[in-house]
Amino acid sequence: MSTVRYAVFGHPVSHSLSPRIHAAFARQTGVSLAYTAIDAAPHEFVAALDRFVGEGGKGANVTLPLKEAAFAICTRTSERARRAGAVNSLTWNDGQWHGDNTDGIGLVRDLTGRNGLDLRGRRALMLGAGGAARGVAPALLDAGVSELIVVNRTPERADALIDAMGEPDRALSRYWQDLGDIGDFGLIVNATSAARGGGEDFDLPFTLTTPRTLAVDLNYGEAAIPFLAWAKAAGCRDAVDGLGMLVEQAAEAFEAWHGTRPDSDAVYAALRGKDALLVTAD
Ligand code: NAP
Repeated sequence: MSTVRYAVFGHPVSHSLSPRIHAAFARQTGVSLAYTAIDAAPHEFVAALDRFVGEGGKGANVTLPLKEAAFAICTRTSERARRAGAVNSLTWNDGQWHGDNTDGIGLVRDLTGRNGLDLRGRRALMLGAGGAARGVAPALLDAGVSELIVVNRTPERADALIDAMGEPDRALSRYWQDLGDIGDFGLIVNATSAARGGGEDFDLPFTLTTPRTLAVDLNYGEAAIPFLAWAKAAGCRDAVDGLGMLVEQAAEAFEAWHGTRPDSDAVYAALRGKDALLVTAD
């Protein structure tokens, strides 16, 4: 019998910690699996998935820039994937791809559970409107933020994300150049990939923050340094990177695939030991 395979697809993907996280979960729970990273450019994605299935592929995580493309190839999707219009977790079942989105629940679990932060009633700003932002936006609304404002370098994508939320009283898009005039926020989420791979940096006004602001970067490692440094300089009370979200979204996918919940805290602690970027200033 061929090995049951799992993988993370992205472009680029060599940086991904997902193979290590899933291998650690598998060791903890006694599940036997092979989990690898597969680099696929958007135009190669469907063919790469077909090859993967031919070689015993049973489930896959999907990272940038493929989450919206992954949604498009699914025959069935979860409610949270439909709200996001983006899929980060694929399961091959009955000859079809089933899609889910575990990014939003992963972020909310990390912030409210691991970090003990209350999101309810916070006015929220999200920078970015790509695949990750699409997963996170509905989860923030469900977690009780009072308002969600999305700004994106390409404004049409922010408009499309907001339209998909269908909550015009609570979820709005604004232009990046208006950031100096839109008041302050209790939660600011960086869902852009600007700091990755030597991309162009952006400037943010300190007027967006108060001493009680929670700043969250979905990035982790070196890519989280510029935004978390800005948050610290702006005097934000809490600043959290995306490592905990990464572990939690993986735990959710692992449970769906293997029917057993791993101990995500142990894996998070092991990864954090190598990569201490959590900044919590009182
Ligand atoms: P994506 O679909 O490629 O979207 C990228 C986003 O970044 C878009 O909104 C894009 O704006 C924006 N952007 C890129 N360069 C920019 C720049 N120089 N200035 C301003 N905005 C810029 O990627 P994604 O899947 O949403 O991922 C976004 C980031 O979140 C990635 O760095 C990823 O590693 C991280 N992430 C982390 C986790 C986790 O578990 N911690 C999960 C998912 C994603 P345009 O629309 O204008 O191009």
